[in-house]
Amino acid sequence: MLTEAEVQSIFERSGALLRGHFLLTSGRHGDQYFQCALVLQHPKYTEMLCRELAARFSGEGITTVIGPAMGGIIVSYEVARALGARSLFTERENGVMRLRRGFSLEPGERVLVVEDVITTGGSVREVIEVVRNLGGEVAGAGVLVDRSGGTAKLGVRTEALLTTKVASYAPEDCPLCKSGIPAVKPGSRNL
Ligand SMILES: [Zn+2]
Repeated sequence: MLTEAEVQSIFERSGALLRGHFLLTSGRHGDQYFQCALVLQHPKYTEMLCRELAARFSGEGITTVIGPAMGGIIVSYEVARALGARSLFTERENGVMRLRRGFSLEPGERVLVVEDVITTGGSVREVIEVVRNLGGEVAGAGVLVDRSGGTAKLGVRTEALLTTKVASYAPEDCPLCKSGIPAVKPGSRNL
């Protein structure tokens, strides 16, 4: 059993979650920088996190775990390992989310949808649609991080290991700028 504080500590130790004053790719300024790939580069951490997510859905009869490429692939694989299930991923083709590569679902299969991080939950909702259109039964959604602060509604039982709300500001309204803290670009050598 991992507490939310332990999950946060894993993200901070791997550099996946930084706090400070950041220039975001959107052009806005934020107080948090988040890059899930930096935690998933460590199989040890990935295993700990995905085992916790799997435990929350044990006893649900899940035979298949599925996530959207790219972020969902590693999470799906590791959660599937912990559940003794198989792991699939969806991809976009001409903008439409679908199963490719010969992957298939049997009607009535119990499926868990996973993702590394959700902000609006849009991709996860698309995967849920893919599963339902193929006759699968969505047992729930599991995400490592919910950046919506819990406001993203997926329409199924949802478990998040960490729930955060990122504050972001237009540069001219940024309170961090006003307090004189220099803004840094994540990934630059200053970090
Ligand atoms: Zn600023």
